Amino acid sequence: MLSLRSKETEKKYQEVRTGRDPSFCALCEATPLEEFTHWKILQNDFPYDEVASTHDMLVSKRHVTEGEITQEEWLEYNKIKHGYVAEKYEIVMEGTQKLKSIPDHFHVHLLVLHPVDF
Ligand SMILES: [Zn+2]
Repeated sequence: MLSLRSKETEKKYQEVRTGRDPSFCALCEATPLEEFTHWKILQNDFPYDEVASTHDMLVSKRHVTEGEITQEEWLEYNKIKHGYVAEKYEIVMEGTQKLKSIPDHFHVHLLVLHPVDF
């Protein structure tokens, strides 16, 4: 698989991942950059720095899977996605179960790509 992280970041990520207590949820513990009623924006400590200059995440405040998100939460999600997120980021990216390192806590990735010089 093509790596979205640089070699150094991937190495740090794997080190933390293997040493992690399985009951610890980094998405619940991190300090948000921005908070909404049901959602928060977190900075990704292990960014996809091979492709992106900014890598944050849109995360539900509750520790729930995608299937447990309520209709009220989805309404706000859409508002944030088409407002705040659309203004600040270029890509909204969601990993499938194969890619997700934290499958128990719903989150999507928010990226601003590196500029390309042709
Ligand atoms: Zn969590």
